[in-house]
Amino acid sequence: AERQLRQLQKMEAVGQLTGGIAHDFNNMLAVVISGLNLTQRQLARGNSDVGPYIEGALEGANRAAALTQRLLSFSRQQPLEPAVVDANGLLTGLSDMLSRSLGETVVIEAQLQPDLWAVKVDRNQLENAIVNLAVNARDAMPDGGRVVLQTANADLDGDQARDLGIEPGNHVRIRVRDTGTGMTPEVLSKAFDPFFTTKPTGRGTGLGLSQVYGFIRQSGGHVSISSQIGRGTTVDLYLPRCREGAPQAAGDPAADAPPGR
Ligand code: ADP
Repeated sequence: AERQLRQLQKMEAVGQLTGGIAHDFNNMLAVVISGLNLTQRQLARGNSDVGPYIEGALEGANRAAALTQRLLSFSRQQPLEPAVVDANGLLTGLSDMLSRSLGETVVIEAQLQPDLWAVKVDRNQLENAIVNLAVNARDAMPDGGRVVLQTANADLDGDQARDLGIEPGNHVRIRVRDTGTGMTPEVLSKAFDPFFTTKPTGRGTGLGLSQVYGFIRQSGGHVSISSQIGRGTTVDLYLPRCREGAPQAAGDPAADAPPGR
């Protein structure tokens, strides 16, 4: 019985993994398809100014190619390398891509904290997580709306950290806020469950948020969601600050004398 149970757990893990990958791949394909659809519509109207749409589709296709590349290295047992990441730069690149691909009625707005602390995280996975959240936001705004991508330096004191279940200290907060339908408390309480979805079959797999949660926890961080029916949803990703490789702030009294270079 114990062997059967272990086998079952292994199959569940494999199912979650492949489901998660299919989910990401599907998001990227959606970006490609939407870019090509927009191109087709523009051309049908006799408008040849389709550069941005083609670019959006290309970016989606490149991300899909990067994903299959990662899959290949995964099957070769190469662990993913966390790297020092500037979330502002990452969000800037993504917001351009998202505003081209999420449709004409969705406005993407970036509010980036200057001198944002660095984090150490797998760059591709963080991008996937944010695309997942933005696609959820889009799905919650059938009549259009606003997605705000926001960064902030967050110095969590003991109480705040305890509430979030993470270590106190310096964190970077990446916030994805939408002006969509919001979630009932019941939906919110299940939102992180694998395979929980309120979307029609074929649209939702229920794996987006559970993947985001798993990845952020693995990176030493935390995800929290707040939502109000009819007003929108806010998802906060907290990642621990990384001091390694981060540029020294000018005039930082703690900084040692610069090396002679
Ligand atoms: P999926 O998007 O495939 O349904 P997720 O795990 O990403 O899977 O989301 C689970 C559910 O949580 C969604 O089906 C939806 O009901 C709810 N949800 C997630 N994000 C939002 C959001 N930004 N606004 C409203 N509801 C959301």
